[in-house]
Amino acid sequence: MIDFTRRRFVALAGSALGAGATAPLFAPRAIGQARPKLVVIGGGPGGGTVARYVNRDSAGAVDVTLIEPQKNFTTCFFSNLYVGGFRTLPSITHGYDKVRKESIKVVHEAAAAIDRDKREVRLAGGGRLAYDRLVVAPGIDLKWESVPGYSEAAADVMPHAWKPGPQTELLARKLNAVNDGDTIVMICPPNPYRCPPGPYERVSMFAHVLKSKGHRKTQIVVLDVKPSFSKQGLFMEGWERHYPGMVQWQDPKVHGGIKHVDPSSGEVKTDLATHKAALVNVIPAQMAGRIARDAGLADPSGFCPIEPETMKSKMDGNVFVVGDACIPGDMPKSAFSANSQAKVAAMTIRGELTDARRFPARYSNTCWSLIAPDDDVKVGGTYEPGDGKIKQATTFVSQKGEAAEIRKQNYRESVDWYAAITADVFG
Ligand SMILES: Cc1cc2nc3c(=O)[nH]c(=O)nc-3n(C[C@H](O)[C@H](O)[C@H](O)COP(=O)(O)OP(=O)(O)OC[C@H]3O[C@@H](n4cnc5c(N)ncnc54)[C@H](O)[C@@H]3O)c2cc1C
Repeated sequence: MIDFTRRRFVALAGSALGAGATAPLFAPRAIGQARPKLVVIGGGPGGGTVARYVNRDSAGAVDVTLIEPQKNFTTCFFSNLYVGGFRTLPSITHGYDKVRKESIKVVHEAAAAIDRDKREVRLAGGGRLAYDRLVVAPGIDLKWESVPGYSEAAADVMPHAWKPGPQTELLARKLNAVNDGDTIVMICPPNPYRCPPGPYERVSMFAHVLKSKGHRKTQIVVLDVKPSFSKQGLFMEGWERHYPGMVQWQDPKVHGGIKHVDPSSGEVKTDLATHKAALVNVIPAQMAGRIARDAGLADPSGFCPIEPETMKSKMDGNVFVVGDACIPGDMPKSAFSANSQAKVAAMTIRGELTDARRFPARYSNTCWSLIAPDDDVKVGGTYEPGDGKIKQATTFVSQKGEAAEIRKQNYRESVDWYAAITADVFG
């Protein structure tokens, strides 16, 4: 492999994949090297988990570096609860001090490029980091042009809040400025995207805030580009019960297509109607974060194919892709999934770099969604490699008309899960 140029290697890997084969080529551990080097790009639930698990379980035998430009990471998960007034921003924001104290090197810079031939990451500041194994976990980028009239600049007026932080604060500010009788429009993305039930939990949180303020006439118009969505029956039932008449969900058969958004006037035009809205929340289509795409790790879908047994990139056996940037088979793109995939990657990396024992890959996920105070629904399952992908093995989902105590218990579970996963990622 070291004789190949990167382009040649990617082309070869691509053609092997086309023939249904995998890409088992990977460089062996460097002999005589003091400690093998793991570099992780992205300090979210995917990357943060791999870095901590490899570091902890290898007891210092692997040199771990985590590259993450942000000093403070606000989670997307539970950001809807911030919008709904159930959480504060500091309560969903985490730093890397504990990770650093565990002797992981944390570099607060962006990775600018990956040289897969040299096994090196170039940092935005010009530094270079060599690796034996690389984990790429940059999350998503937004396809601005997927919604006509939308752009990165337009997000200052029509927030997406699908990457957290200032966008989430802007969304909450705009929601709180809505007057009774105004219209709110949400544009929902096509599959696949991060957090399938996320837009609909957000609609619920909008409605909860408006109801709490005594709104009687405000309308939330949800323009979907999909014919159906995650936990649809449960959300629809919840909206009718808690917020009757407030939410109008329209599928493409109803609105006929989203023609244009105009940030200067606040208008959203569909085939059916033009809405003038006080708040427009545009959630565009998505793809893997740029560093993964630029490194040739993505396929034409914009996301990165992986080996379901290991989370290794199908393009390069020294590289792992976990979290929202990967193609996770039957798993949804969620923090729970990213954390679960990261543990499989960490186990494989330790196996390769320190000869630690490996076990068959098993994955799990649960997505909770809060519809109203103490009314929380969930969907989830377990997964394992099968049919060349991460395949669903078992599944569960909340039922319509469940007892209030079950829904309340779901909410308590979600709060406990949040505490556990953030402790797993940030220490
Ligand atoms: C509104 C909303 C609600 C959600 N609710 C839930 C929920 O309840 N449960 C759940 O499980 N999931 C939920 N999710 C989904 C969850 O947030 C994501 O699936 C999860 O964050 C993905 O983790 P990740 O590590 O792949 O990516 P991210 O969390 O996006 O982390 C990627 C990190 O990589 C860094 N990065 C990017 N490029 C570079 C680079 N070039 N160099 C260095 N670093 C880089 C970024 O700064 C970022 O910190 C929700 C998402 C949204 C939007």
